[in-house]
Amino acid sequence: MPSERTGARNRSRSAAIVASGDELVRGDTLDTNSSHLARRLLDVGWSAERFVILGDDEDALTELVEDLVGEHALVIVTGGLGPTLDDVTRHAIARAAEQQLVLSERELADLRAYFESRGRPFAIANERQALFPERAEVLQNPIGTAPGFCVEIRGALVFALPGPPRELEMMLENEVLPRLQRALPAREAIAHASFHLFGLSESVFADRCGEWMARGANPLIGVTANGGVLSARLRAAGRDEREASALLDARSDEFRARFEPWIFSSRERDLAFALGQALIAKGVSVTVAESCTGGLVAEKLTRVPGISGVFSAGFVTYSNEAKSTMLGVDPEILRAHGAVSRETAEAMARGAAERSGARLAVSVTGVAGPSGGSSEKPVGLVWFGVARDGVIASEERRFAVRGRDLIREFAANTALDLLRRNVP
Ligand code: ATP
Ligand code: MG
Repeated sequence: MPSERTGARNRSRSAAIVASGDELVRGDTLDTNSSHLARRLLDVGWSAERFVILGDDEDALTELVEDLVGEHALVIVTGGLGPTLDDVTRHAIARAAEQQLVLSERELADLRAYFESRGRPFAIANERQALFPERAEVLQNPIGTAPGFCVEIRGALVFALPGPPRELEMMLENEVLPRLQRALPAREAIAHASFHLFGLSESVFADRCGEWMARGANPLIGVTANGGVLSARLRAAGRDEREASALLDARSDEFRARFEPWIFSSRERDLAFALGQALIAKGVSVTVAESCTGGLVAEKLTRVPGISGVFSAGFVTYSNEAKSTMLGVDPEILRAHGAVSRETAEAMARGAAERSGARLAVSVTGVAGPSGGSSEKPVGLVWFGVARDGVIASEERRFAVRGRDLIREFAANTALDLLRRNVP
């Protein structure tokens, strides 16, 4: 069987990931922990080759862990470290390890202190969280109640980590990855870089990458798309750090040259954050005038901490009357060209800038559907206006018709991107 051959050949760097929790198998919670773990493990030269989602079932988890340690050098179990009886991970792993669960007085004291410092009562049930397999190493969780642990079972390293993603991610970086590095230093050095782009479709991006995205390429480029934002990840492998970095740097330079017009950040995958940070850094005041996005642009922008220094007001003007009274759009423009037009978009941007006093303004007016389209102005047609220090410009986009929500999402992100391109 091919899977056995793979297992035997790669066992030394093969990982299995188990996400446990009834909420996961019921479909109430999406298992994002496993994909996060897989990505980070890959970064440090391990491959996650088996993924299992399991309910809170002690017997099933015990058997599973017994199986997995025979085939993988690393097993990571997330979830089920809470204080209640349905949190069975520590019991299951102790059984698979054939070790007693023992109460750690030190962890118990820490847990009590944690609760005390937050003014929360310490329940007897919380004592469960101070139980560990007798030969386990305790892993600190500075931002939650459940410590994790690490135990060796038949030559495999088994980690138990809490389910809440923030806690899991922090413990992975602080506790797990350093131990993996010590247990088995990387055979190869890996270097990676990210670029976030807006305004290119995934397929056009792939075409332009060409061979760069071929399977087995080094550096390898992977891409994910969300609301028009493409996030590209470059991963270079070398015999040592110098070789990996050299490969990565060379390809990063080529990548920048090829995709410069679309790259908005190499750190920040959120367009609104990249824009907001630029506006704040340069002290450029901004406003928005929204029709079909109904406040979505302002919503995204105001997620950015500190934005109040440059954003004082935005306008949601849905009806023609509102466009005229709130933004001063000449009713004659609306009559002659309609609400979804270059002329209206430009007048909205101009009006928003004038009435708010902002240096930079964007306007959005379009047909989000599903009804309201015509042959001349179909669903998906959106006009944008930009006012920058009194200079007015406009752009038209025709978004693919994949539902009202997506049209609004793409329109809002396009408005943010137009602002970004126009930051003085
Ligand atoms: P706690 O002390 O918080 O109870 P725990 O280790 O028992 O820690 P769980 O109770 O299993 O963790 O999960 C806590 C929360 O973490 C869940 O409500 C769920 O929202 C989230 N969570 C658990 N597992 C996952 C997962 N695989 N992916 C994403 N979120 C998860
Ligand atoms: Mg649980």
